[in-house]
Amino acid sequence: MQIYKVGGAVRDRLLGKPVTDIDWVVVGATAEEMLAKGFRPVGSDFPVFLHPKSGEEYALARTERKSGRGYGGFTFHASPEVTLEEDLIRRDLTINAMAEDDQGVLTDPYHGQQDLENRLLRHVSPAFTEDPLRVLRVARFAARYAGLGFRVAPDTLELMRQLSESGELEALTPERSWKEISRALMEDHPQVFIQVLRDCGALKVLMPEVEALFGVPQPAAHHPEIDSGVHTLSVLEQAALHKQPLSVRWACLLHDLGKGLTPQSEWPQHIAHEHKGLKLIKQVNERFKVPRDCQELALLVGQYHTHGHRALELKPSTLAELLQSFDVYRRPQRFEEFIAACEMDARGRLGLEERAYPQADYLRGAATATRTVAVQPLLEQGFKGPELGEALKRERLKALKAYKEQYSQ
Ligand code: ATP
Ligand code: MG
Repeated sequence: MQIYKVGGAVRDRLLGKPVTDIDWVVVGATAEEMLAKGFRPVGSDFPVFLHPKSGEEYALARTERKSGRGYGGFTFHASPEVTLEEDLIRRDLTINAMAEDDQGVLTDPYHGQQDLENRLLRHVSPAFTEDPLRVLRVARFAARYAGLGFRVAPDTLELMRQLSESGELEALTPERSWKEISRALMEDHPQVFIQVLRDCGALKVLMPEVEALFGVPQPAAHHPEIDSGVHTLSVLEQAALHKQPLSVRWACLLHDLGKGLTPQSEWPQHIAHEHKGLKLIKQVNERFKVPRDCQELALLVGQYHTHGHRALELKPSTLAELLQSFDVYRRPQRFEEFIAACEMDARGRLGLEERAYPQADYLRGAATATRTVAVQPLLEQGFKGPELGEALKRERLKALKAYKEQYSQ
């Protein structure tokens, strides 16, 4: 049997990037031989094994054929006769279809090295269209390598368009889609992921609510970039520049969905877009079975981002309600993430990227002010049950009034 490194490990070494996980392909072996060597099978019917010591994935060389709709619709054929070239041709991109032996000798039948040099994400073969997940994968690699100057090859974008129009994207499970989306959002240029999906017509299938933002104007005085879709991409870009966590990036992507619902006659104003957007945010959250923390933050940011921007003008009672809505006493971290998303929203405006955002510290100060209100003295005064809750609210409001006064001096 011969063993080769394949895929990302080869690609990233050639790019001079750190290699984190290594995938291996094994040519000329049977499953029985692998088991005899102590490899552990990953699934019962899949020719992939884990190394007894390193735990890395070793796959028997295989060919694949599409046999039906959706992800289940694949049959594969693994046998000792399958060659390395036959295994590599079933892969998505040429830069992912190179192999390297233990001497460092490269096998590159589909010219991945040339595409690395030319900074091109290019499909290996027409069989690319057999798996709709590849649309998301290519967009994700575009988001990862945009800083190196990579772009999607025009022919590949065309195949991605065909896949998007075929209805196959709908066959993806929420779990597989979310895995790609969440990884893509954490790349250096997540806005490129959305842009590429848009360029190939996949965005209007996967997230029509986001697609609908493009072409919708906002008032130039607050939003020099004007277009709501362009703004959303900039907010995402800022979130990545500021190394925000996934929940914040997800909230950034969805914060303005309500603007896509504004009747044209009201443009460029978007009255109550925060509230109108909530059902759309909920819809997208559910479509991809998004993790709870991301779901929650997206809804809160959708509902309250304008409060964040207007923080310094809010009445103490409104501030108190805002802090209450965030349950800031038990969930301080979530409020921090809200503040971060608001700040990214403000910075995601053309020419205003560097402008200070004093609202952030003001909101933090307000949260701290209410947190200093102690329960013990109220208990000692005999408050309990709902009355204790009311007393606590009164004291917190007092603290916020004092905070606001002191701040404006
Ligand atoms: P990463 O750095 O994100 O791990 P990777 O290229 O190693 O990138 P993996 O998902 O680990 O990506 O997959 C390993 C290899 O398997 C890929 O490089 C590619 O050759 C192949 N591959 C994975 N998923 C697909 C797919 N859906 N269609 C075709 N080939 C795929
Ligand atoms: Mg990998």
